[in-house]
Amino acid sequence: MSHQTRHVFTVSRRHFIKAGGAAAALCVGSASPTKAAEAPFDPRWVQQAAATRQTPGTRTVHSVCLACNARCGVRGVVQDGRLVNISGNPYHPYNMQFTPIAYDTPLDQSLAVPSPVCGKALDTPQHIYSPYRLRTPLKRSGPRGSGQFEPIAWPDLIREIAEGGALFQHLGENRRVPGIGELISDAPIDPEDPSLGSKRNGLVFLTGRLQSGRKEFIDRFVKQSVGSRNRIGHTDICGLGFRMGNFALSDGKAVELKADPKNADYILVFGANIYEALQPGINTYGAMVARRRADGKLAFSIADPRATRASAHASDWLAVKPGKDGALAMAMIRWMMENDRINRDYLSAPNPAAVKKRGYGVLCNASHLVICDPGHADDGRFLRARHLDPALGGDAAEDRMVFTRDGKMPISALSTDRADLEREAIVKDYFGNPIRVKTAYQLLKEAALAHDLGDYAVICGVPLAQIERVAGEFSSHGTRAAVTQYHGAGNYVNGTYAAFAVAALNALVGSVNMKGGYLTGGGGCGKPTGGLYDLKTVAGSIKAGGVAISREKAVYEKSAEYRRKKDQTGSGYPARRPWFAFTKGGLCVEALSGIDQQYPYPAKVLFTYLFNPVYSIPGGYRFKETLADPDKVPLHVSIDIAVNESNIYADYIVPDLSFAEGHYGWLTPHAPGLSFTGIRSPMIEPLTDKTPDGRPICTETLLIDLATHLNLPGFGKAAIADANGGRHDLLRAEDFYLRAFANIAAGAKLPPAHPGEIAGVEAAYPLAAHKAILPSEQWSTVCRMLARGGVFKPYDALFDGDVFTKGLTEVHVYNEKLAGVRNSLTGRRFSGSPAYVAPADTQGVEMDAQEKHYPFAVVTYKSRLHTQSRSLWSAIAMEIQGENRVELHPADCRRLGLASGDRVRLVSKSNPEGIQGKIQSTALIRPGCVAIAFHFGHSGFGATALSVRDGKRAFLGGADVIDADGRLKADPAFGKGLNPNDVTRLDDTLGRTPMVDLVGGIPDFSSTRVRIEKVA
Ligand code: SF4
Repeated sequence: MSHQTRHVFTVSRRHFIKAGGAAAALCVGSASPTKAAEAPFDPRWVQQAAATRQTPGTRTVHSVCLACNARCGVRGVVQDGRLVNISGNPYHPYNMQFTPIAYDTPLDQSLAVPSPVCGKALDTPQHIYSPYRLRTPLKRSGPRGSGQFEPIAWPDLIREIAEGGALFQHLGENRRVPGIGELISDAPIDPEDPSLGSKRNGLVFLTGRLQSGRKEFIDRFVKQSVGSRNRIGHTDICGLGFRMGNFALSDGKAVELKADPKNADYILVFGANIYEALQPGINTYGAMVARRRADGKLAFSIADPRATRASAHASDWLAVKPGKDGALAMAMIRWMMENDRINRDYLSAPNPAAVKKRGYGVLCNASHLVICDPGHADDGRFLRARHLDPALGGDAAEDRMVFTRDGKMPISALSTDRADLEREAIVKDYFGNPIRVKTAYQLLKEAALAHDLGDYAVICGVPLAQIERVAGEFSSHGTRAAVTQYHGAGNYVNGTYAAFAVAALNALVGSVNMKGGYLTGGGGCGKPTGGLYDLKTVAGSIKAGGVAISREKAVYEKSAEYRRKKDQTGSGYPARRPWFAFTKGGLCVEALSGIDQQYPYPAKVLFTYLFNPVYSIPGGYRFKETLADPDKVPLHVSIDIAVNESNIYADYIVPDLSFAEGHYGWLTPHAPGLSFTGIRSPMIEPLTDKTPDGRPICTETLLIDLATHLNLPGFGKAAIADANGGRHDLLRAEDFYLRAFANIAAGAKLPPAHPGEIAGVEAAYPLAAHKAILPSEQWSTVCRMLARGGVFKPYDALFDGDVFTKGLTEVHVYNEKLAGVRNSLTGRRFSGSPAYVAPADTQGVEMDAQEKHYPFAVVTYKSRLHTQSRSLWSAIAMEIQGENRVELHPADCRRLGLASGDRVRLVSKSNPEGIQGKIQSTALIRPGCVAIAFHFGHSGFGATALSVRDGKRAFLGGADVIDADGRLKADPAFGKGLNPNDVTRLDDTLGRTPMVDLVGGIPDFSSTRVRIEKVA
């Protein structure tokens, strides 16, 4: 197959089907790249911002949206200090389907260009002005979880968290609460295993929605000032499944790869809701796909148990069984191999020069030889020159080896243009010892041949004819076909292998790093933490070390526990809980399970930042017990904008800013093929209370004051060094972020802004009040960037012909690092090849085999209107869709005697009490499955009443949300619907904690099965 595009379509369903409310309605046209004022009107613009002018009392700020994590630009319209409207930023490629207005378009001209955002962003004003928003810090005034709080003065809050003490003695709790100060010690946290790190690791800081900017700020506090290893994100619940597939394919170099929406001819979508919830967002990716589909330039198919809205435009809907995407992908791989629909020309190129010569984007290791010899010390690793000749030294010793056609002995992969793909042999080393080897491709083929196509079809529940048709289509477009996989493709136990198989499809057609193929984002413009100011180095800091409480990126075999068990039993296995040496990380679920089980050490101080694990984690209800237990969580500080289902158990809640007022950030693309840095700066003044010295109460102010109270390095006087040897204070958020912005502008080589632009920024942007932090020439370049909401490069800037120049350096259809890792519970080595591995519990028992009394598989999804777990304050979305339903196929409804609107209880093995909701009969779900939208069934955020002393002061709504008894009034509308995570299956064999994949720590979203009972 040539790398040139071949438009050979084999599917039967090529006609355009109109979808009500789908992404076609979200399409926008392209503004003129040069003259914004001449931008043509496109009738498909439906979410237009009115042309915006900076009139008296009204100002306009370009920033970056955080209503979801997609990072679109926004244009906030602020009237008399209040955010009244949000639209898109026409300089930002996400808002303009990759064709923004030219970067040098003057700001005033740009204001006439309409640019869309999605419905979630449009609800921002409703969200941020919710009367239930917290303004002032709270301290618990009753038992954990009782919902009783009282305001606490800022100096007292800082002292109590920093120093600890008998903080709740007045409530009858006779325990000493540890403060952060007690953790500042280099003594080992476990004297019997110093490799776990120091007592500093007793601080566990779990972050929910966190992006670059605040990430660096929080890491500075946790990792450099305190010195804890435990700043742990929530990548696992965000979508670790598909990321683990890309992690294995790229050998950890990148996890955000997707089909190029601008130039792909065919996209195969696995578990991605492209018209409703994706990164890039629906007004970017979904809109581009819909428009190109309507124009006849793109076809796509959807593999998902639920027919997403995009399925109406798809060539095929493959209604795959939940958790069985790997079987579908391996079936396609087998079919492509057996029907000679793989790109042999590409795969047989064994080195970068050969790949380049043939016009492809990146080396694939398919032809490289792997040692398959259990007796060999390097079994599972690539055969290298040194394995054959130990006398070799230097770089040549590390050369991987290949066979050429008719070659009797392997040769260096660098010494030939073409190597054998399918080869198995016994080679002899220098001493004559035999070594069995196979090519990486051969190993993949053996994994694909493990099941015949008919078996795969039964396992994944997709008809064989449809699998063959889609495999044929996928392999009919040269390098302009790729996969877009997302949350559904691998977010379950053993999901790493499913997502790896899905990712490997791209390698087999040679589309990785190719225009129209499988691409990473192109990174940012300018370096935020270096250049003019060194924001990375903290003088006097201790390097955080040891093992994370989640055990992510840690090797079990290096632990004292392993050595002890090995001495006692000879094997060293099983570990008490799984360790995850091969993972992208961000394992908040295993962090909480570790806290619960006090493994591998107990936590002392827990911070949760915009993180609601009880609600958001599948099976998170289990952690209510953990958070309520002061032995497991001695001190819990939550930073959030609300009292939610999780921080109702906290000892202190510190109010934070919304993204409209803070969350300074520099946001690089998830999008294939793009390079930019979006800049988020406040659109309005903070809505939280102020400290006695006038700073807004928020994350940054809290961490600065805790660090300075404890005299920790990194914050306070002279904490920041500049490139000329000067030092600068870090006393407020802007001291850090404005200097980071100056670094970015300098790194991107931006020229100074025009005087009119500087005046425009200074009149409109709240950040301008702090411009004195920077010298005027730096402020000028920062103004140029702020005026445009970031720095953006054109799509074509990163391509050399058809080859993407910023992508991966190697594609791994065999991953030797993965093959070198052992399952920490069994001691068995993982496979280095993609394969179908049935979802199973930690004991290896297949999930299907143990759920016989629970016939329906549960799948969850995000709605196009709603914003993650915080959506219930989004008034427009709630008006349109105020609750979710239990979506069930009509055939299942008939069998159970159910009709739309009937109330049912869903009961799982782990939750026999079950959860209740209303039935929605729909043919858009695979029979045997139940689909439930996330976002609903809340008890926090104002859904239940709270006792908060002086509540009129504590909440933004003041007296409006306080009843006659002084309690926070509950709004019953917030509690409607049901939360599917409340019925998720737990792992009975590991402390009844949520189930996770044993390779990467992926939480399980797809193995829960339920019984459906009608409620009278
Ligand atoms: S997809 Fe919507 S909510 Fe998400 S960042 Fe973009 S505009 Fe905001």
